[in-house]
Amino acid sequence: MTEPTGGSDIENPAMNSFGIHTLARPRDDGFVINGVKRFPSNAGIASLYTVIATVDRSLGDGGSCILLVPAGTLGLSFGKPEDKMGMRADRNCDVIFDNVWVPNDHLLGKIGDGARLLRLTLAFNRPGAGSIAVGMARGAFEIALEYSRTRIQGGMPLFRQPQIAAKLADAATSLEAARLLCWRAAWHNATHRPPSIRHASMAKVFASDMAMQVISDCIQVMGSYGYMKEYRVEKYLRDAKIVQIYLGANEICRLDIGDSL
Ligand SMILES: Cc1cc2nc3c(=O)[nH]c(=O)nc-3n(C[C@H](O)[C@H](O)[C@H](O)COP(=O)(O)OP(=O)(O)OC[C@H]3O[C@@H](n4cnc5c(N)ncnc54)[C@H](O)[C@@H]3O)c2cc1C
Repeated sequence: MTEPTGGSDIENPAMNSFGIHTLARPRDDGFVINGVKRFPSNAGIASLYTVIATVDRSLGDGGSCILLVPAGTLGLSFGKPEDKMGMRADRNCDVIFDNVWVPNDHLLGKIGDGARLLRLTLAFNRPGAGSIAVGMARGAFEIALEYSRTRIQGGMPLFRQPQIAAKLADAATSLEAARLLCWRAAWHNATHRPPSIRHASMAKVFASDMAMQVISDCIQVMGSYGYMKEYRVEKYLRDAKIVQIYLGANEICRLDIGDSL
C-alpha cells in the first residue's frame, strides 16, 4: 500500500484514492504495473504480493484496484532492507514494479473495488495491530511487576512504594481496557458484516497509545535496569512505536473514528 509519496494519503478515505501513484495499465490480457511500494512487511520474502494501484489517477476511488503479484514475476524487484528502530525481525524494503504483467484473474474483484477492499482489510487488521500492542505492553508490565517485588528501596519492595504501586495499578487498568477494546472489535468483525472500521480503529489507537505509555512507565519503575537491553523492556518500547504509525497512523484512524460518529 504505502508509497514514497506517503502512506496516509492512500489510507485516508477523504483522499478518495488520489494518493495512489502505482499505475496498473489494463490490457486485453491483463494489467501492466509500474510504481514503487515502500516499507511493506516481509518484502522480498513473501511468495505473493497484494498491491493497491490505480488504472487512472484522475478517476480517484473509481480507478483503484487490488492485484495479486506472485514473487518471481518478471519486472518485480526489491530495494535494500531498511535498518529500523524496532520490529527488526520484520523485513521491510521497497517493492519495485517495472512493467510487471499479471493476467486478468489476478485482479481482486473489479476495477474500482480497490478502495473498498483496502478499508475492509484495515477494519480486519487494526484489532490485530492493537492486540500486538497489548501483548508488548503486557510483556513489559510482567517484567516490571516481578522486578518491583524483589527490588528493595526505602526499606521495602518497590511494589510497596505508593508512587510505584500507583503506576503499576494504572498500567494494569489501561492494559485491561485496551485488551477489552481489541476483543470487542475482533468479536464484532467475527460476527457482523461488514467489519467495523470504527471499533477496529478505536482498538488500534487506544492500544498503541496505551502501550507507549505503559512500557515507558515500566522502564521508569525499573530505573536504569529497565533502560538496559538485558531486561527486554526497552525492546518492547522500540517495537511498540510502529503500531501508532502503520495500518493507518493513529491520526488517520482518528479521522475514521470521527467520520463514524
Ligand atoms: C515495521 C514497518 C512495517 C510496515 N509494514 C507495512 C506494510 O506491510 N504495508 C504497507 O503498505 N506499509 C507498511 N509500512 C508503512 C506504514 O504503513 C506507513 O509508514 C504509514 O502508513 C505512514 O505513512 P508515511 O510513513 O508515508 O507517513 P505520512 O503519510 O507521510 O504521514 C506522516 C505523519 O503525518 C500524519 N498525517 C498524514 N496525513 C494526515 C492528515 N490528513 N491529518 C493528520 N495527520 C496526518 C500521519 O499520521 C503521520 O503521523 C510499514 C512500516 C514499518 C516501519
